[in-house]
Amino acid sequence: MKIFCIGRNYIDHAKELNNAVPSSPMIFMKPPTAKLKKGYPFYIPNFTDDLHYEVEVILKICKNGKTVEKEFAHRYYDQIGLGIDFTARDLQSKLKSKGHPWEIAKAFDNSAIVGDFKEKSTFTDMNNINFGLNINDKTVQQGNTKDLIFDFDTLIVHISKFFTLQVGDLIYTGTPAGVGNVKPGDTLEGFLEDDKMFELEIK
Ligand code: ZN
Repeated sequence: MKIFCIGRNYIDHAKELNNAVPSSPMIFMKPPTAKLKKGYPFYIPNFTDDLHYEVEVILKICKNGKTVEKEFAHRYYDQIGLGIDFTARDLQSKLKSKGHPWEIAKAFDNSAIVGDFKEKSTFTDMNNINFGLNINDKTVQQGNTKDLIFDFDTLIVHISKFFTLQVGDLIYTGTPAGVGNVKPGDTLEGFLEDDKMFELEIK
């Protein structure tokens, strides 16, 4: 199982971190060990003082494929989920300033929270899905997939140019504005439309 993540895929989020808006999808990956096992507690790692949440819609790949064409891209994912791409923002800023890879800031153990999934067929329009994140009952992120710079099918086409998509792979499609840090005792709840897809307590 591979985990693909897309950086800066919502303009308002790229801007809040003073990043340029990309002209093609920016891909990074997390290893399978980044996925927090369901029901396990999440502990803030000791190597960061600024751990950021990023709520993201996740696609689950249902068909193996390479160099997928746009018109067939929709056949390669059948479930839509929601999760968190945890980011050690302090480490990431240092790495970015040196032009170094991001892995230790983005792909560490348990950095990928994967909530529940819904069948794709339960959504009428892939480009109009509301999602959001509440922390301690307060909404901190609110997004809609209509604001994606690169939509789901475009991501499938782009990723599969370089990597073979395999059944079970996940694609984190990017986070909207409103990222910030978490502290022990926080409770995070993610929503896809009106459905709660995960609840996570920070330790
Ligand atoms: Zn992200």
